[in-house]
Amino acid sequence: MDLVRANHILADKGVVDAFGHVSVRLPERSDRFLIARSMAPALVRGPDILELDLSGTSVGRSVAKSYVERFIHAEIYRARPDVGAIVHSHSPAVIPFGVTSTALRPIFHMSAFLGERTPIFDIHDAVGDSDMLIRNAPLGVALADCLGTSNAVLQRGHGSTVVGTTLQEAVFRAVYLEINARLQTDAARLGPITFLSAGEAELADAAVRQQVDRAWDLWAQAAGDHHG
Ligand code: MN
Repeated sequence: MDLVRANHILADKGVVDAFGHVSVRLPERSDRFLIARSMAPALVRGPDILELDLSGTSVGRSVAKSYVERFIHAEIYRARPDVGAIVHSHSPAVIPFGVTSTALRPIFHMSAFLGERTPIFDIHDAVGDSDMLIRNAPLGVALADCLGTSNAVLQRGHGSTVVGTTLQEAVFRAVYLEINARLQTDAARLGPITFLSAGEAELADAAVRQQVDRAWDLWAQAAGDHHG
C-alpha cells in the first residue's frame, strides 16, 4: 500500500529516522486520515496503519496508539481542504533555517513549491516553555495557522511539516525540502545567492508537479518497495 511505501521512502531518503511521520487523507472520507501507529517509519507494515478522525482519535478496531504529534495532521487537514497528505520530520539540514534569521527559499526548480516565503512556527509564542511537541489540538491549530496557504512550515528547534495534494507529492516535497536546505547552506558559503523569482517558482512548481511519479517509482524501488 502506498502509505507503507511512503514511510519506507522517507526513511530511505533520510527525511525521517526513528522519528517523523506521514499521513494521507481518505479520499472517500475527508474527515479521516491514515497514519501509522507510533513507531519508526522504516518498520511500518500494513497492519500498523491506523485510521484517525480529525480529533486525532483512532476509529478502527486497533487499540494501538498513534503518534503524540498526530494533531499536526488532524488540524492541517481541517484547515486545508486542498491538502491530501502530510509529512512531518526533523530532517537535519532544515533545522538551522528554523532557528536563524536566514530564510529558506527555493534555490532550484525542484523545490519551487517553497514559493516566496516559508513560515516559521515558534511554539514559544503559543505556550511559552514546552517540550517542543505538537501534543494537543490547540497547538495543531496554531501550527496550521502559521502554515497558512504555504506548502511547508518550519518549526523552531524541532523540525518541519510539508503538505501535498497527493501522498506522492507530499513525499516528493519532503525530500526536496531537505535537499534545498543542504544546497542553500552550501551556496551561502560561496557567496550571495540568486533564488528563483516568484514567477519562476510558480512556473517551475507547475512543471515539476507533473514529474512526481517518476521520483516515486525510483525511490520506491530503492527503498525495496517496488512490488505491489
Ligand atoms: Mn516532531
